[in-house]
Amino acid sequence: SKRIVIKIGTSSIMKSDGTVNYQQFDRLAYVLSSLHKSGKEIVLVSSGAIGVGMDKLYLTERPKTIREQQAVAAVGQSEMMNLYSRFFSHYKQTVGQILMTRDIVEFPESHKNVVNTFETLIGMGIIPIVNENDAVAVDELEHETKFGDNDQLSALVAEIIQADLLIMLSDVDGFYDKNPTKYPDATLFHTINKVDEEEMVLAGERGSTFGTGGMITKLKAARHLLAHNQEMVLASAEDPTILFDILAGIEIGTYFSRE
Ligand code: ADP
Repeated sequence: SKRIVIKIGTSSIMKSDGTVNYQQFDRLAYVLSSLHKSGKEIVLVSSGAIGVGMDKLYLTERPKTIREQQAVAAVGQSEMMNLYSRFFSHYKQTVGQILMTRDIVEFPESHKNVVNTFETLIGMGIIPIVNENDAVAVDELEHETKFGDNDQLSALVAEIIQADLLIMLSDVDGFYDKNPTKYPDATLFHTINKVDEEEMVLAGERGSTFGTGGMITKLKAARHLLAHNQEMVLASAEDPTILFDILAGIEIGTYFSRE
């Protein structure tokens, strides 16, 4: 695969004490720059604006109101891009920011424009770093199960730029037959070739009170990709050098593919 979208979750760029994990930024910058140098076309979808913003503002609790969350996201997004920009520059790699809203699904003109931007950035040897435009898109923080989560956003990005592969790096190392953080005897699926109700149930759709994020949105992303005959790998974000292994064809995590 040549064109690859990589999605990273908030928990993978923050430490458990709520501070920014600088080492993780450095590793990501190193790995993605190396992949780019070896001829891959890379797009990074990164969550974390609120997490980084909370650290920057010394907040210990996630703000309650949407407007406060958006304000924190505004601080965090620019700080996060500052970090990516600086860490990537150590590896002589330029990055560019793309903030997305649902406009790109609703308006063909916006869709065309964003695809052009992606293609042009990639053509210029730049790694696009994508997130939702939280400060503008109100409903996206409120109803995370809609378009508002970066799992499904990354699937959409992979679709519109016709990526060969979406790699989702998560706090879990794959998709299991039950939640592995609750059940130590859960077993990992190495390959999945369809995402139906049956799989959704294993991701905790039923019985979950909040139904936001987690494995459900990852499966929805996988379902989206499979419907477009594309592929996805879900693996652990703990050590980003795992990307080298995945792209070398080593079986790690869960591989979603129609075949
Ligand atoms: P990220 O922050 O990396 O995007 P999330 O924490 O939102 O990831 O989602 C991954 C979590 O989903 C896991 O840590 C686990 O608690 C939960 N989960 C629920 N069901 C499953 C399952 N069947 N297999 C793997 N993880 C599951």
